[in-house]
Amino acid sequence: MTKRIRIKDRYIGGGAEITVQSMTNTRTEDVPATLAQIRRLERAGCDIVRMSVNTPLAAEAIKEIKRETTIPLVADIHFDHTLALKAIENGIDKIRINPSNIGGDRALREVAAACKDHGIPIRVGVNGGSLEKSSLDRYGYTAEALADSALHSVSLLEACGFDDIVISAKCSDVTMNTAAYRIISRSVDYPLHIGVTEAGGGDLAIAKSYIGIGSLLMDGIGDTIRVSVTGDPIQEVYAADTILKALGLRRDFVEVISCPTCARTEIKVDELAAEVRRATAHIRKHYTVAIMGCVVNGIGEGKHADIGVAGGKEKSAIIKHGEVVKTISNDKILDELLREMKEAGID
Ligand code: SF4
Repeated sequence: MTKRIRIKDRYIGGGAEITVQSMTNTRTEDVPATLAQIRRLERAGCDIVRMSVNTPLAAEAIKEIKRETTIPLVADIHFDHTLALKAIENGIDKIRINPSNIGGDRALREVAAACKDHGIPIRVGVNGGSLEKSSLDRYGYTAEALADSALHSVSLLEACGFDDIVISAKCSDVTMNTAAYRIISRSVDYPLHIGVTEAGGGDLAIAKSYIGIGSLLMDGIGDTIRVSVTGDPIQEVYAADTILKALGLRRDFVEVISCPTCARTEIKVDELAAEVRRATAHIRKHYTVAIMGCVVNGIGEGKHADIGVAGGKEKSAIIKHGEVVKTISNDKILDELLREMKEAGID
């Protein structure tokens, strides 16, 4: 079990629910645009939002942004520790730095002390593009080097008496990325922020995140996730949410399972499944609905669902946990499923 870290009113690690993170791509000093994006991310299901704090104006903007939103905010800072100090002073909830490039021991000590005073955590974020020379010399460009760099960076912060730490160690190679996280997870008990960085755009980027994040989560590694996709960050949140739902780590929704359809299909499986999804999108309880195209395989295949339908020529079978409870005419299927759900308190 990892250590539990608090970021405002959320927790990372120690068995806390896995949080979804994303990052704005507006100019942070453009407060209206940044706030609008933060709100869109929040509505999409994001739990924690990171912003680049790369200028004094961006650090200044934190004050106003904090006044207008309650979601925990992270300042992403490189090289200039004074920006970190300013962000902390202006109320940021967490900072992300690479301790190796923040300006030396003294600068790091000042940042660690300020974070301690304000009770905010630090994410030690190391990427494949900025590995320690000593790690590269020793291991080459490998998962060991990535993990070694991250652990070295963590030790720099620990030397400042600071342990309110979350770690990330990302690269764009899924295999190397996951191997590095496995090494870190074996070595320390700090919570891990996992993701595949610079994954690119489109389907490949999403696939890299599904595999890279999903395979770690399946092994119980990872406490907070960020899908990285070029473009609108909203798609990152949707993809992260999908990963958590697919792994059963987020269960506050109605899960519609449906067969792929084939020559035996008797009902409009795709339309019905989409209608059930639409009608239940607002429900924050877990319930499974199976839409199966025929009774030949549908009854058996749908038996793990709370409710389901197996299509027949004119009439279809309504099934509950594998038992046929009634048959209804095909034009009444949607109404019947929703009525049954309502009766079960799922509405
Ligand atoms: S449940 Fe029936 S209709 Fe659907 S794919 Fe299987 S055999 Fe085909």
